[in-house]
Amino acid sequence: MQLTQTSLKGKTALVTGAASGIGRNIALVFAQAGAAVAVADLNQAGADAVAQEIVAAGGRAIGVAMDVADEAQVDAGFARAVAELGEIDVLVANAGIQIVNPIEQFAFADWKRMLAIHLDGAFLATKAALRSMYKEQRGGVVLYMGSVHSHEASPLKSAYVAAKHGLLGLARVLAKEGGPKGVRSHVLCPGFVRTPLVDKQIPEQARELGISEQEVVRNVMLRNTVDGEFTTLDDVAQTALFLAAFPTAALTGQSITISHGWSMN
Ligand code: NAD
Repeated sequence: MQLTQTSLKGKTALVTGAASGIGRNIALVFAQAGAAVAVADLNQAGADAVAQEIVAAGGRAIGVAMDVADEAQVDAGFARAVAELGEIDVLVANAGIQIVNPIEQFAFADWKRMLAIHLDGAFLATKAALRSMYKEQRGGVVLYMGSVHSHEASPLKSAYVAAKHGLLGLARVLAKEGGPKGVRSHVLCPGFVRTPLVDKQIPEQARELGISEQEVVRNVMLRNTVDGEFTTLDDVAQTALFLAAFPTAALTGQSITISHGWSMN
């Protein structure tokens, strides 16, 4: 068996939520590894900007407007990506938001919005990607953006924790259904990474918990790491690249935690 961990040459990837943060960096790293990348996001201007950055660096990419919670938009976005870049070999279902509140104050509408983006969005993107991956047994890799919160719980994050735990189930079913057809799946489980999603939470958590922002970082976000360090965008993207390029189903149905030791499940 030859390992080709770092090359996605000749592959087409679609990354959701790729206008910002973790998804953006995965799109850039996949493009550097040779993949053509569909940069999908609710924020079309942001997605176009990332695609332009890839093209300017000599890669192939398009920006695709897509609300992952809307089936028609997901299907239209995948159809455009396939028409312009070719059948999808790698899906990274990454789009996500965060809403924090104690359960008794958590609005039902917020709960439904969280599950719609994180879980319905992952399901709809998977279904669309499988149209490519099951075609003539082409196969492929689906990476879900879970979190340490796919394995652990934190106060104020009921919807997020429930959704991120749910992704483990979806990934495991896909590993079993897709295995015979050459489709593999994994859940990436990062600890805290400094992105707009996390930067927004720091003052919110400080307010909710009645502590300073510095204490939120030190005593809440990084308390259980082995070294008090944030996980970086590249830590996550390099792990995604390794799993996307791994050539056999020896690795499938797994969750990989990237967190400086916070949670060792
Ligand atoms: P981010 O806010 O930087 O980026 C999220 C992107 O998703 C944005 O570009 C946003 O426009 C897009 N998006 C939001 N709703 C969407 C929708 N309905 N359809 C399409 N796109 C949509 O956040 P991030 O920190 O990069 O988070 C990306 C993923 O990583 C999320 O699933 C998040 O839960 C997960 N995650 C983040 C961290 C962290 O510490 N930052 C840790 C673990 C997991």
